[in-house]
Amino acid sequence: LMRLYGPLTSLSNVHVDVMTALVSFDRVFEVLDLKPMVAEKPGAEPVPAGPATVEFDEVVFRYPAASEVSLASLESVARPDTGQSHEVLRGIGFTARPGELVALVGPSGAGKTTITSLVSRLYDVNEGAVRINGMDVREATLASLRDTVGVVMQDAHLFHDTIGANLRYARPGATDGEIWEALRAAQIADLVESLPEGLETVVGDRGYRLSGGEKQRLALARLLLKAPRVVVLDEATAHLDSESEAAVQRALKTALAGRTSLVIAHRLSTIREADQILVVQDGRIVESGRHEELLAKDAVYAELYRTQFAHDR
Ligand code: ADP
Ligand code: MG
Repeated sequence: LMRLYGPLTSLSNVHVDVMTALVSFDRVFEVLDLKPMVAEKPGAEPVPAGPATVEFDEVVFRYPAASEVSLASLESVARPDTGQSHEVLRGIGFTARPGELVALVGPSGAGKTTITSLVSRLYDVNEGAVRINGMDVREATLASLRDTVGVVMQDAHLFHDTIGANLRYARPGATDGEIWEALRAAQIADLVESLPEGLETVVGDRGYRLSGGEKQRLALARLLLKAPRVVVLDEATAHLDSESEAAVQRALKTALAGRTSLVIAHRLSTIREADQILVVQDGRIVESGRHEELLAKDAVYAELYRTQFAHDR
């Protein structure tokens, strides 16, 4: 447990959703002695098997007022308590079908991260429902939800621990063989092989310093090891050199292949490939469709594209 304390205490001013990318919820809560905001319903069932469909049905959401939640202690440092919380999502509806890549785009503060956090049931909706294979996530066991949904947030965080241990957070029983397979698929095996201590290399703030692109690829290796049916991912905005960028893109492609994915997209390459682009503005989906369709429409997406994405063509 001690090795979790270091990172967590220094995370006091960081968003909770960053931590969900790192360890399973209950481990975080165990360490901090906090109750998760959501509880498993008596008689909860596992998420139905098979390729995953994720459905948002007229979802309305407000963040719980700080006094209502035990996690407030983590959030209050970053966010002054403004009293009454406003509607952050005001009727979000879409369906991500099995294997689809759904890209969320829109200005900062629009609600993209909030949408993705509801898939893994970090919070409960106020109205409407989030369903996976027809089952309301509030009816699902928390363990099956965690197995079903893999989360990779921006600025992947690594524990001060070995590379092997960092990856095993995703799947405790993983063999070295499985770990290497994931590292290869995530385009990061060569680097790990080149380190004198290989998988035993200690990384993190006081260990071997990985570049942004290397951290992202390790996070993707962790995701591949977990092999969830649904992927929720916030693409990093950090500027990578073109070599890392290409490697991250290949890793991303592998990690998302065949999975139902909800990606907060910052890369034009991801957006172009998306089966659906959802343009989020002020808690609503104001446009949706594929890249060409939305460009042809010449409205909100087209403007966003011109100002944000066109340059990385
Ligand atoms: P985006 O990811 O599109 O930038 P977010 O989902 O992060 O947008 O934020 C949407 C709105 O919700 C913003 O007004 C933001 O300030 C607010 N918000 C985000 N996270 C929290 C939180 N943990 N507690 C309270 N308000 C939040
Ligand atoms: Mg965000």
